[in-house]
Amino acid sequence: WAKAEGRGRWAVYDPERSARDIARSALVAGLPAALDRGEFVVHYQPIVSLLDSSMVAVEALVRWQHPELGLVGPDQFIGLAEETGLIVRLGEWVLGQACRDAEAWRRAFPEAKLVVSVNLAARQANDPAIVETVAGALGRTGLPAALLQLELTESAVMGTAGEPLRALHQLADLGVRLAIDDFGTGYSNLAYLRRMPIHCLKLAGPFVEGIRPGDAGLATDAAAAAASVSAASTDHRDERIVDALVRLAHALELWVTAEAVETEAQAERLRSLRCDTGQGRWFGPPVPAAEITARLRDDAEGAP
Ligand code: C2E
Ligand code: MG
Ligand code: MG
Ligand code: MG
Repeated sequence: WAKAEGRGRWAVYDPERSARDIARSALVAGLPAALDRGEFVVHYQPIVSLLDSSMVAVEALVRWQHPELGLVGPDQFIGLAEETGLIVRLGEWVLGQACRDAEAWRRAFPEAKLVVSVNLAARQANDPAIVETVAGALGRTGLPAALLQLELTESAVMGTAGEPLRALHQLADLGVRLAIDDFGTGYSNLAYLRRMPIHCLKLAGPFVEGIRPGDAGLATDAAAAAASVSAASTDHRDERIVDALVRLAHALELWVTAEAVETEAQAERLRSLRCDTGQGRWFGPPVPAAEITARLRDDAEGAP
């Protein structure tokens, strides 16, 4: 029995839970000071054309360079930062850093037309100052709006009132691109696709994961389709969903990026399903800005 029993907190002492809570509160307490001390870094993951393998964009992914824990991933602290509201300040810092880096790449490699894609938390998207924040970051860094993409999840797009956010129209009016992140895993009301100024859908990793190496792929003729119906209903379900989502996106004139592409077989399959771009370990993991610069230099030198 827990010592806290007298205070009526926990009936049973759970060492795992208390360790978790302590680690969690230590992280929460450390976040604001870490931001002030400049312990956050932005890494960038290539987003690659499935047609010609060129790097068309990079996604900005924040990491915490923790003095004791080393490099801490966003899954460990973004949720906490959202709960405490610090995400607004942290997100503004990431946005500024990403725009600065992207503008440096634009100046050095204008031909690359590299887009930087920045995640917006629901709380940021709902912040009345978001349009001003984005316009400010573009103005301060000189990055053209067309080279900035903002990624929102389906629930962030819908806002707290269950209505698509008005601010998204104002952001689109600035000229930035808007992408739906982890598409297919969130809010299932597709009506917002008709009404919102969206430019890109990012297909969630689990669908891509379902495209397994060794799969025969979608049946191309009716007989094969009929023969494979029972097996396909389980084995090829993810592939069929990707196929349908790519068609939906293209019917709406949206770009499609497949997330979490891990194998050549997946990349090949996604290309034949007419997916536009891919992101994942197969094309390169998130890396420090300097490695993106090196890749841009290689691409520029390799060009005819
Ligand atoms: P996300 O926006 O969906 O980002 C993609 C995640 O997939 C990244 O995780 C990336 O490292 C990971 N990934 C890359 N290649 C592969 C692969 O081949 N397979 C699989 N399974 N995963 C791959 P990461 O960097 O840990 O970020 C996790 C999440 O944290 C992001 O998911 C995003 O929702 C959030 N996040 C990251 N940076 C920021 C930020 O600056 N602001 C906000 N609001 N959220 C952020
Ligand atoms: Mg993202
Ligand atoms: Mg995603
Ligand atoms: Mg995610």
